[in-house]
Amino acid sequence: MNNLTKTVFIFGDKQADGNAEMKNLLGGKGANLAEMNLLGIPVPPGFTITTEMCRIYLNEGHDKLISIIKNEVTASIKFIEDRTGTKFSDVDNPCLVSVRSGSRASMPGMMDTILNLGLNENIVKGLIKKTNNARFVWDSYRRFIQMYGKVVMDVRPEEGDFVDPFEEILDEAKIQKGYQTDSEFNAEDLKNIAQSFKKLVKKSTGKDFPSDPWEQLWGAITAVFDSWMNERAIYYREMNNIPQEWGTAVNVQAMVFGNMGQKSATGVSFTRDASTGEKIFNGEFLTNAQGEDVVAGTRTPRQITIEGSRRWASLSGIAEDIRSIDFPSLEEMMPEIYQELLGCAEVLELHFKDMQDIEFTVQEGKLWILQTRNGKRTGAAMVKMAVDMLEENLLDEKTAVLRVDPKRLDELLHPIFDQGEIIQSDIIAQGLPASPGASSGRIVFFAEDAQLWSSEGESVILVRIETSPEDLKGMVAANGILTARGGMTSHAAVVARGMGKCCIAGAERLKIDYKQRIMQTENLTLKEGDWISLDGSTGKIYQGKLKTSEAQLTADFEKLMDLSDQYSRLEVRTNADTPKDVMTARRFGAKGIGLCRTEHMFFDDDKIMSMREMILSENEVGRRKALAKLLPMQRKDFEDIFRLMNGLPVNIRLLDPPLHEFVPHDEKVQKELADEMGISHEIIKQKIESLYEFNPMMGHRGCRLGNTYPEISEMQATAILEAALHIKYEGIESRPEIMIPLTGTVEEMQMQKKIINQTAEKIFELYGDRIEYLVGTMIEVPRAVLIADKIAEHAEFFSFGTNDLTQMTFGYSRDDSGKFLPMYLEKGIVKDDPFQVLDQEGVGQLVTMAVRKGKIGRSNLKIGICGEHGGDPASVEFFHNEGLNYVSCSPYRVPIARLAAAHAAIKEDKKINAAAQYAIKRQESLLI
Ligand code: PEP
Ligand code: MG
Repeated sequence: MNNLTKTVFIFGDKQADGNAEMKNLLGGKGANLAEMNLLGIPVPPGFTITTEMCRIYLNEGHDKLISIIKNEVTASIKFIEDRTGTKFSDVDNPCLVSVRSGSRASMPGMMDTILNLGLNENIVKGLIKKTNNARFVWDSYRRFIQMYGKVVMDVRPEEGDFVDPFEEILDEAKIQKGYQTDSEFNAEDLKNIAQSFKKLVKKSTGKDFPSDPWEQLWGAITAVFDSWMNERAIYYREMNNIPQEWGTAVNVQAMVFGNMGQKSATGVSFTRDASTGEKIFNGEFLTNAQGEDVVAGTRTPRQITIEGSRRWASLSGIAEDIRSIDFPSLEEMMPEIYQELLGCAEVLELHFKDMQDIEFTVQEGKLWILQTRNGKRTGAAMVKMAVDMLEENLLDEKTAVLRVDPKRLDELLHPIFDQGEIIQSDIIAQGLPASPGASSGRIVFFAEDAQLWSSEGESVILVRIETSPEDLKGMVAANGILTARGGMTSHAAVVARGMGKCCIAGAERLKIDYKQRIMQTENLTLKEGDWISLDGSTGKIYQGKLKTSEAQLTADFEKLMDLSDQYSRLEVRTNADTPKDVMTARRFGAKGIGLCRTEHMFFDDDKIMSMREMILSENEVGRRKALAKLLPMQRKDFEDIFRLMNGLPVNIRLLDPPLHEFVPHDEKVQKELADEMGISHEIIKQKIESLYEFNPMMGHRGCRLGNTYPEISEMQATAILEAALHIKYEGIESRPEIMIPLTGTVEEMQMQKKIINQTAEKIFELYGDRIEYLVGTMIEVPRAVLIADKIAEHAEFFSFGTNDLTQMTFGYSRDDSGKFLPMYLEKGIVKDDPFQVLDQEGVGQLVTMAVRKGKIGRSNLKIGICGEHGGDPASVEFFHNEGLNYVSCSPYRVPIARLAAAHAAIKEDKKINAAAQYAIKRQESLLI
């Protein structure tokens, strides 16, 4: 059977049909289970049903799927039976399996899992006889009913209730018996719980819980396929750009049991620290438990290493003598297992050349590895691991650069809490530093509230006892996440790290009361809506809202940036118009200013009055008078910027927005202005009314202003060139580029250029000195694209204004698109917001055309882009491929763009190399 017709791939006993390369067909989990077998890692035998079968099931239905896979699944169950010496459905010697999802990209917790499948009342009796461990068997059965009931039979909380009805039964049983934890249940208790679970299933679904293992198996397989389409999985895919068509694989695997007693355990380990990136083996485990217990955060797990355990104890305020007795690490409790696990971890990291997230189970003293995958990590950890692995010779430079997702750099650049504030603030509790970052917000206890409050502009912290996949949307909406239970591998911790969101987990001293919507420490009660602040790097929780300060950039970050610059061919500039922005951007490595929006400067208190005076003047004389007041102020602004940029190019755009944006609409301010100008309030009012436009974005703005009021362009050109001359006398070089906005005709360009050049000549004559400068234009009107060759005869550079270009190409108003774009995104009418991610299919064609035509008009034309898209990684790759000289973006996105530019260049080189290899091979085959 070849791979196209093969629907089920087996693995076990160091053999496998598949391997790690087959993620598309087998999903990440299935492919790696196969690969681990080939590496000799101890993995329970099993099989993977392909992602292709998920597509068939979802498109063609249940019967079609079963007709295709039935024989292969039956044969594969036999394969497991042979390897384990057990029999599926057999009463005396039953074979139990787990059924798990596993798609191409990891989607932690988003889809469903069922453990202990194959049990029924009779088999339970047989298994008790075989194992002589009634507690373990009833525990396994009640877990199976719980998981199967939820996932396959859809037993949910009743309308308006948030509590899982299975958990409710468990809690009630605990209260009745006076137990503190689940581990105190004895066999009889668990038997009763299993019976109550079955009654619950019957009551809420009207159906009996299935007793036939084959019926259970088919139900579980199709339910896992169905879980690809559950709401949270769809949402996760949308967030992470994972295509709907991929589908999930299903992995059926022989059960191994971590809940067989104190010599059994289950856990998750990481080969490096997923929060900080440090090369420290770490992880958590629970004795006498099954895998889901660690992730669900219902019991606080123990640490794998002694070092980790000591660190945890010191964070939790537990003394060493108590820790070593009550909370020993795996390294102390099961030293041989620990060494074997560490050995497997080293083999796996070395093999996959990446940090591994490894799930394991110990069944009565025997270690089994259940899964390995590249671990989710924070942005900071991503950078540290890439740089460390480069230094360890595990990766080459290009791979190290590609390892860091440019979007995740954002997290490293976020502000941290101000040290002064921290000293003065009260720590109300301490948890585990599950995902770094500093965030303040109002307390909410439910995911729905997090969404609602944040949609109303509130910053919120989602506070939960523990989170579950249902909370995903609330976690996305929240500024930070705080849980009272769970460890570093709990759902909250893993998902938060994956999103780069600040999270503190397992703050055990917090008592959370969902009904009263309060959280309490020993001496403090906080209610919904109160402010708290989380430091995800230390695990400290503060009362109130803390101020933040700039993030510190690490040496690893700088190294990654240097490497990026070594490989990228696209220059990265910044959009900046204040000295503060300019300094930030330079700190982040901007190689110039790609857009200085001069209008922002006019909003300063000292300039706005003169600006208004200019706009509201009756005639040119009045305007010139006001402009004369503005000139020295504007010149000083440019001097400051040129000084800071110290010889790097500075692109300054002439006035662009419609003038009504600058005038006061408030009557009191209008009167003040009238007094200042010595005219009546009535005249001012009339003039302001006359500025009204139906569609200002398409009205009197851009170069239309400079062409109707040439004195404005004259003043701005003067300020720029005089500033350049002034700082030349300080011994500082400058490279001004004067940019004309919104050009749509050659005449507009010519007229503005003439004003600038004539002004320049006058100034140079006056000063008896000259400086080099360029005059160019924004390309942001579709007409400018169509005649780009002619415009380029006059423009020395182009800079794509992709904000306006997108607006005018789609006909979507930049100011009004919020009314319909969210809906368009939800309905899939547009894939991304075109104002954030460049629409390559449409607007991209205009970019391509303008580049081609522009170079016909002027072969050495310099081309950049300064719209929002200059900081979006996918768009940066497009601009690289179009051969632009630079992208320009806001200061905080400069590192993102630098890394994205390196990714684009490395990917292009890879393609070129692959094509060259192909050509050589082809040549050779022709010669033969
Ligand atoms: C643009 O249109 O892309 C641009 C950079 O200009 P502004 O956003 O100022 O209109
Ligand atoms: Mg624009």
